[in-house]
Amino acid sequence: MSAMILDGRAVAKAIRESLRAEIAALPRPPSLAVVQVVGDAASDRYVRSIRTMCEEAGAVLVSRTLPDTTSQATLEATLADLSADSSVDGIILQLPLPAGLQADPAVAQINPRKDVDGITPYSAGLLMLGQPGLRPNTPAGGMQLLKHYNIPIVGQRVVVVGRSPIVGRPMALLLLHEHATVTIAHSRTHNLAEVVREAQIVIAAVGKPGLISADMIQPGATVIDFGINMAANGKMVGDVDYSSVAAIAGAITPVPGGTGPMTNAMLLRNLVQAARNERP
Ligand code: NDP
Repeated sequence: MSAMILDGRAVAKAIRESLRAEIAALPRPPSLAVVQVVGDAASDRYVRSIRTMCEEAGAVLVSRTLPDTTSQATLEATLADLSADSSVDGIILQLPLPAGLQADPAVAQINPRKDVDGITPYSAGLLMLGQPGLRPNTPAGGMQLLKHYNIPIVGQRVVVVGRSPIVGRPMALLLLHEHATVTIAHSRTHNLAEVVREAQIVIAAVGKPGLISADMIQPGATVIDFGINMAANGKMVGDVDYSSVAAIAGAITPVPGGTGPMTNAMLLRNLVQAARNERP
């Protein structure tokens, strides 16, 4: 058996194209403000990639880069200003912050209506309650992939490995809202292999290359790999031992080209949603 490849690159491209048409119909281009504190090359790469995506889609990216000497007060004031600025539709704060700066009080300054990363306590509360809101992009992208490929979710046994507030935990809630039977596994879970083997859908959100091996997968299961890890040979790999698992799974996301591109597409979708909410 060889698994169906869940092609996040292609699905994300189609979503971005359809959002471009939606953006063209808005009264003005939506504007995304990205706040980052200098000093992280990976963060710079990410901002470049979302700038390109915004430009291609007809949205505007406004970059607010703060020096590494920035105080907590200045960071919070920057976010508060953007939150109050009616020309700004969405706000991203690049995390993690350098040592000495605290994320929670900074995130608390983001206007929840502009919370396009879905990271404020308000957005998290809406998700927990199952009310409409801006969802975290990575799990939203995983859900979109499952739906695009018509993977059954209702009543399915799902194991989410990882419980971080931005990936594993919100993914578990999104699946629960779609009526899956969800187990969340984490670093203290006993007999991980046994737990994961029960799953018809396996979600890997850990950050450990090869953690999910073929012996943990039941034949025909769907495997969504959120992991992004750099192998010793410089290649990007997921949390799933791809080649052996693909031989037994029913469907699988590749890394790269699976969940990663979907995350950016969901950010653009959130920006359009935020822009619509801002306007009467
Ligand atoms: P975190 O480090 O915040 O969380 C990792 C989770 O994995 C924790 O809940 C931890 O458990 C759990 N864990 C660690 N070791 C094990 C183990 N041996 N067995 C079972 N569970 C374990 O990571 P993130 O959630 O931020 O990211 C997860 C992965 O997703 C990373 O590779 C990251 O790079 C990637 N990522 C991908 C994105 C995408 O666009 N595809 C976007 C964001 C992240 P515990 O809670 O007990 O510590």
